[in-house]
Amino acid sequence: MTTFTHTIDGVAESSDQHFDVINPATAAAFAQCPSVSRDQLDRAVAAARSAFESWSKLPPAVRREHIANFAHGLAAKIDAIGPVLTREQGKPLGQAKWEIGGAVHELEEMCKMDLPYQLIRDDGKHRVELIYHPIGVVGAITPWNFPIILAAHKIAHGLYAGNTMVLKPSPYTPLATLLMGEVARTALPRGVLNVVAGGNEVGQWMTEHEGIDRISFTGSVPTGKKVLASASGTLKRVTLELGGNDPAIVLDDADLAAITPNLFRGAFLNAGQICMAVKRIYAPEKLYEPLIEGLAKLAQAHRVGDGFEDGVEMGPLQNKMQFDKVNAILEDTKKHSGVRVAAGGHTLNRPGYFIAPTVVAAPHDDMRLVREEQFGPVVPVMKYRELDDAVRRANDTRFGLCASVWTTNPPKGAEVAKRIEAGTVWVNHHVGSEADMPFGGFKESGVGRELGAIGLASYLEPQVVKVPLA
Ligand code: NAD
Repeated sequence: MTTFTHTIDGVAESSDQHFDVINPATAAAFAQCPSVSRDQLDRAVAAARSAFESWSKLPPAVRREHIANFAHGLAAKIDAIGPVLTREQGKPLGQAKWEIGGAVHELEEMCKMDLPYQLIRDDGKHRVELIYHPIGVVGAITPWNFPIILAAHKIAHGLYAGNTMVLKPSPYTPLATLLMGEVARTALPRGVLNVVAGGNEVGQWMTEHEGIDRISFTGSVPTGKKVLASASGTLKRVTLELGGNDPAIVLDDADLAAITPNLFRGAFLNAGQICMAVKRIYAPEKLYEPLIEGLAKLAQAHRVGDGFEDGVEMGPLQNKMQFDKVNAILEDTKKHSGVRVAAGGHTLNRPGYFIAPTVVAAPHDDMRLVREEQFGPVVPVMKYRELDDAVRRANDTRFGLCASVWTTNPPKGAEVAKRIEAGTVWVNHHVGSEADMPFGGFKESGVGRELGAIGLASYLEPQVVKVPLA
């Protein structure tokens, strides 16, 4: 049985306390994970602080080479880490390997851009420059849906900017991330990337910690609010990548045959457990029934099962809490008059946290399924008459992460996209991140951005230097 360890100052460490890691496809524990102690966390922070002295002074091109080295090390371990990710997270093995491959790609791509610099003024009297310093030690906290790629986003820009890091994954999916730490032991100078696992209390220790200067958090809205409150004690720099309730608006000129498979993928990839999944669909009256029929057909044909079974396209919900939450939302949905479950609507009769891909014809916007972030394989489709009404309903939410518009007329789609209150709006696409596109939310979906030039700048402290020339 594999033994999993933290990486603290470039060295493997276990802990006195351990906790079970559950395979969501069986609901049974399959591994033990060490639970970092307060003293170990303090040592990880101290190691990062000590490594910061030399790491922050390296030329960015040298840091880029180190990060590329780390990316190569990760690429070499895809076949070893992929099965661990499937076992702890539930996603099909091919998708687990695809996630790790994506992380390798992002680590390389995100470090290609230059660090920011601006000559503000050089008018013969003064030279005024805007330069950027690394902030210090970053505390990175990740959720359980995409533990590897979300960690890679934080590692790439956090380290490339000259900071060092303590990374803590979710207690539901800690193991693949601990294996990333193993890669760091040989690929990066010691102390630059420390990886520790533990319960939610470790996240709180990090957000309060005087030795941590910046928090990069990805998770739910309620936890994000706690992080912001807790980080205020030391006025840490904070970015929050939080939940979403993404609307997809289908325009009346849409070609259903072309868009339905993409809409389906946007809603059901990773069993719907994606911050930026399609979570509500608004369809015009004339396309409403055919769209529901098309989505329901795909849902019925979608192969659900253990991520190690051949041909499986969708795994279970990642944990019991999420499984119970989605089931409760489903039960609430069925109580509403006029609701029609066009596909799925039930759990699978086997161990594990499986829910069949579910498509709901939903006549009301005030149901939990429409108002809340379901974060599961259940999507409601709502009807609209006037486009203005669809846009108003799409914006009638405290969330504002992503959205999409589906049409055969992309310029018209772009006009509608600009009216939606969300950090990213795609036309004829939904779900995905790219190294040069800043990602984050309006409203309660987050604070700040990751990725792109804005994301990189968020790991730096700007400084104005004004010098007289006379
Ligand atoms: P969560 O908020 O429960 O946990 C996220 C992380 O926070 C975990 O590592 C957890 O241990 C830690 N944590 C818990 N309590 C803490 C505290 N008081 N202080 C500091 N850290 C604490 O989220 P989750 O259930 O793991 O993930 C699902 C949520 O994440 C969904 O809402 C989803 O939309 C969101 N998400 C957002 C993005 C994005 O980029 N916007 C990406 C993926 C997931």
